[in-house]
Amino acid sequence: MSGIEDPHMELREALRALCAEFPDEYHRKHDQHATYPEEFLEALTSAGWLAAMIPEEFGGSGLGLTEASIVMEEINRSGGNAGHCHGQMYNMGTLLRGGSDEQKARWLPKIATGELRLQSMAVTEPTTGTDTTKLKTTAVKKGDKYVVNGQKVWISRVQHSELMLLLARTTPLDQVKKKSDGLSVFMVDVKEAIGNGLTVNPIRNMVNHETNELFFDNLEIPEENLIGEEGKGFKIILGGLNAERTLIAAECIGDARWFIDKVSAYVKERIVFDRPIGMNQGVQFPIARAHVNTEAADLMRFEACRMFDAGVNPGAQANMAKMLAADASWEAANACIQFHGGFGFAAEYDVERKFRETRLYQVAPISTNLILSYVAEHVLGLPRSF
Ligand SMILES: Cc1cc2nc3c(=O)[nH]c(=O)nc-3n(C[C@H](O)[C@H](O)[C@H](O)COP(=O)(O)OP(=O)(O)OC[C@H]3O[C@@H](n4cnc5c(N)ncnc54)[C@H](O)[C@@H]3O)c2cc1C
Repeated sequence: MSGIEDPHMELREALRALCAEFPDEYHRKHDQHATYPEEFLEALTSAGWLAAMIPEEFGGSGLGLTEASIVMEEINRSGGNAGHCHGQMYNMGTLLRGGSDEQKARWLPKIATGELRLQSMAVTEPTTGTDTTKLKTTAVKKGDKYVVNGQKVWISRVQHSELMLLLARTTPLDQVKKKSDGLSVFMVDVKEAIGNGLTVNPIRNMVNHETNELFFDNLEIPEENLIGEEGKGFKIILGGLNAERTLIAAECIGDARWFIDKVSAYVKERIVFDRPIGMNQGVQFPIARAHVNTEAADLMRFEACRMFDAGVNPGAQANMAKMLAADASWEAANACIQFHGGFGFAAEYDVERKFRETRLYQVAPISTNLILSYVAEHVLGLPRSF
């Protein structure tokens, strides 16, 4: 740190005190049994942290993405995994910006108390992947309802959420001027939907990340659950996606700092050839490089937060922050596992668990290639490649 006081120190200390009650063994046990850390989530909810972005008039603390990102960073820095709860933060952005006053009054106070969880967002589909505007799930208006048919994949936390945002096509692709038109966002009451047109099949995966395949078979959604204008959902969801990318950048920074602290402590203690391995520059440099890249990524993360909180769309900054932070955490993860030697592979050191967890962010919520192509086309004005 530069010596200038961190303006968020009080917030960080509060989070650190809460996270300290859930040590590495706690997260390791849930990882090994592929179970959901309910007690941890409960503690975060009762302390109000998962309602950080809800305005005070609706029972939240009215904080910005900046503070929300610090909550996520500190969870990962403590050895935990904010992937169990980050959905609530970025979905909040979609509801806050796209929802009507009536919708906010209906859902936000209950989300603030923890009575309802808004942890899920269903965008990705198995046959279209990153080509989001080609998604095939349809929502057809019939009377005062929309009838949804289609399939989604990799939809996280559905089994631990009462509410889910859904992106579906309301006007066929061949009838819209712009391919991003004709998509709409809906709020799905998950408990009501399961067994009434929604089937949820869990996907076992490399990390302890509760994620699922969803099948929609004539699921009826009341028209009052349409978020924002029909056909304009892509823009609404993009606001949420920029918040998501920024929050995940913060999580990667938390991971990177966890790896750097862990490996720095280890290499000072581990004696090989009669001296600490940390005396070798071949060991120091990869750790130092990961630190440099983490600090640089952190600046871009705070820039994306600053813009989002000022009501400006941080498209470029959110994407760049996510890529820089995911690369820094992956670099730190590699240094950490490498210099732990064989012990890096032992579950009790937690390095292999965090290594698996941080690897996800090279692919999700958006892969590095797609970020580079966004920057090339939308920031640098290079020719469109697809
Ligand atoms: C654990 C987990 C949790 C997830 N949670 C959610 C969730 O809650 N909600 C949700 O909607 N989605 C979720 N996802 C989905 C995630 O956002 C996607 O996996 C990710 O966006 C990549 O899409 P894809 O898997 O379809 O890959 P694809 O689009 O098939 O791409 C595969 C690879 O090809 C590369 N590629 C594709 N096109 C190009 C191109 N034009 N140029 C260069 N390279 C290209 C990509 O970089 C990528 O590496 C989750 C995924 C995982 C693994």
